[in-house]
Amino acid sequence: MEYVDKLLALREFKALHINTGYKKKIIIDLETRTKKMVCPKCNRYTSSIDHRYGQTVRDNSISGKEAHLRISKKVFHCNWCDYSFVEKLESVSPKHTYTKRYEQTIFEHCLESTVMNVSKAENLPYDCVRGIYTRIADICIEHLMTFRSEIEILGIDEISIRKGHKNFQAVISNIGGGYVVDMLPDRKKSTVVKYLENLPKTAKNRMVFVSMDMWEGYFNATREALPNTTIVIDRFHVMKNLNAAITSYRREIQRNLPKEHRDKYKGYRWVLVKNEENMEKEDIAKLEKMMEDCPELKQLYDLKVQFQDIFNHTRKAERADMKLKVWEKKVAKLNDPYMDGFLRLLNNWREWILNYFVSNKVTNAFVEGMNNKIKVIKRVGYGYRNKMNFRRKVLVECGYNNLRKAKKLIFLR
Ligand SMILES: [Zn+2]
Repeated sequence: MEYVDKLLALREFKALHINTGYKKKIIIDLETRTKKMVCPKCNRYTSSIDHRYGQTVRDNSISGKEAHLRISKKVFHCNWCDYSFVEKLESVSPKHTYTKRYEQTIFEHCLESTVMNVSKAENLPYDCVRGIYTRIADICIEHLMTFRSEIEILGIDEISIRKGHKNFQAVISNIGGGYVVDMLPDRKKSTVVKYLENLPKTAKNRMVFVSMDMWEGYFNATREALPNTTIVIDRFHVMKNLNAAITSYRREIQRNLPKEHRDKYKGYRWVLVKNEENMEKEDIAKLEKMMEDCPELKQLYDLKVQFQDIFNHTRKAERADMKLKVWEKKVAKLNDPYMDGFLRLLNNWREWILNYFVSNKVTNAFVEGMNNKIKVIKRVGYGYRNKMNFRRKVLVECGYNNLRKAKKLIFLR
């Protein structure tokens, strides 16, 4: 039985008997090594055992078979105060029918799969799996919340749950830490203000920059609730707007062309807005051809690259401001309503866009990656239509799971 003890690796138990005769399960009979216990009533040791009773708990599978531990639990009796009590176990929480480590296994499986699939794979009732997942997830989230006071750069971004404007949810993140801190029910100013105001005082005092896209709700909420922070408009969101303007302009040119030229222009639609660093050989060849075929598009492309270069290669805000002014003059000459629209946007948000340089180049770029992950969670978890469940899963997988190992809960490291 010593080998069984080693295999089981639960030090508090001593195996008494092992039954391997079942097809799908292994049953191990065991008892604790406890000889005496402190009486909870009078705090004196007692070693007198009144009686025993059996409790069966599930544990991590052994060689692909379900492991059931049949524990012979001791009921002690304190002769000093005439009080009977059941021994406490280290590896099983009171009233639970699973070992703690098995509950962790279930939880970890849920992170990679759905409750339904884990329930099937482990041959456990759906509600039990859901219960274990929820309980441990909430412990992780509570733990995650304690790191709010470490945030120096806060990111506010959003995710659309379903298509349409009413379904945006604000995603709050610790940009320096690289993890999501919270997900709000919507992106209204009042919701964001309430959230920011309720942050712990230590968090508010420590925060220096708040990075966001050009959404008035976030901007006003931050001004109101965190007046001492510097707002930075995320450069990648600015870029998105520029790309949208370029696309509209390209369509406009296309529309005014004779039919045979139109298709030629259409062929360049992706290469025009693609990031240079993501370009492959054929894209570059396409660009060179674009120069001969459609000089207007080439001009548009060059303007986009120049705009990116300002952000990539300038360090000081004043210099960036000067370069932008030169750039804006060139764009204004195009005399295009879409590009003019972009210039207006640029001017409305100029101070905060330029704060990108003040902040030593803070961006929300990592939140974009998180957004993709959140979208996957949304797609895989058909059960997450409920906002509470959805938030829970996002905070565990994009929040807690992204904490550095040393910051995670010991039992889940
Ligand atoms: Zn007692």
